[in-house]
Amino acid sequence: MIVFTFVHMKKLDLNNSRLLTPTMLDVFLKENDLLDTLTTIGSSAQGKPIYSYHKGNGPFKVLMWSQMHGNESTSTKAMLDFWMYLKTPAAFNLLDQCTFVMIPQLNPDGSDAYTRFNANEVDLNRDAIELSQPESIVLRSVYDQFEPHYCFNLHGQRTVFTAGNTYIPATISFLAPSADKNRTVTAARELAMGLIVSANNKLQKSIPDAVGRYDDSFNINCVGDYFTSLNTPTVLFEAGHFKDDYHRIIVRKHVLEAIIAMCNTIASSSITDFNVNSYFEIPENYKNLRDVEIFNIKTSTEGNFKTSANSVFYQFKELKKGADVVFIPEIELLDEGLKGLLKIDAQQHDALKNIVLDPLNPDYENLTKTISLLIYV
Ligand SMILES: [Zn+2]
Repeated sequence: MIVFTFVHMKKLDLNNSRLLTPTMLDVFLKENDLLDTLTTIGSSAQGKPIYSYHKGNGPFKVLMWSQMHGNESTSTKAMLDFWMYLKTPAAFNLLDQCTFVMIPQLNPDGSDAYTRFNANEVDLNRDAIELSQPESIVLRSVYDQFEPHYCFNLHGQRTVFTAGNTYIPATISFLAPSADKNRTVTAARELAMGLIVSANNKLQKSIPDAVGRYDDSFNINCVGDYFTSLNTPTVLFEAGHFKDDYHRIIVRKHVLEAIIAMCNTIASSSITDFNVNSYFEIPENYKNLRDVEIFNIKTSTEGNFKTSANSVFYQFKELKKGADVVFIPEIELLDEGLKGLLKIDAQQHDALKNIVLDPLNPDYENLTKTISLLIYV
């Protein structure tokens, strides 16, 4: 049997699973002598502690938070890498110039369940005004007390996004959120754009053409938009995908690279050196990628099936199973302009070459069952 192996899972640690539960985080923090240095700033809907880590004594105050969406663990790992970086001599200047408050896991319940939402099934990134959830109140209290000069809002995005209308997955996407409906480039927004340009200049050398820019429609309920409207430059990070890197080990390194680049820009007071127009030159995110494309599928009658290449597309659904996350291929019935990350020629594989579909009335069951057996992450 043919198995398309992207990454082997051998053991569960921060490198080998997309799952990052509060328990896993605690193990990491203990192993690295960090647990005792944290402050408990509140608790989640289910009563789990929410921590922050304070570091540095400089005049520029930077607030970062991650895993506001529990299934977006890559940027948390990059934040933890940043904590380790701050212990090295290379970071002395950053600690002299900046004071950091960093919340690694704002939504511990969602992180435990590997869901976007908190335990009350609320999207915390739509709760900035209502503050209906304890986690939202925790973030707002920290923001009010710390009065940051800059905020980093750390997230993760699905594999569907490309940087521009290309085949290149957006390995990282950024947004300088709008502060109003007219998407005015306010002073705060301009500073967020400058930070993004400074990071993009670095990233174009390490991951050329793989940086995207998120849509800037205004929504005051989103935390980044709200903080920007309060004149705090806020940068949205979206840890995305790199070819075959489903555990996002490579992506994590580039998110760290971006965090360090932006912090160095802040520490050296050089934000205004970066041209805001360059922000708008970063290609916008498109969402036409799918994880798997099976092409050259046999058809029972004349005519092409779905696309000229007789393709069927699958997208992985990520589900928590036991102490891990599994990737289940789900058929994608949209067929407009999709592109496959992994392309498989059905006629080149024994298990697929005899599958025949009627283009007018396709029965996908056998194909989907076969794909589920052939492909795992
Ligand atoms: Zn998110």
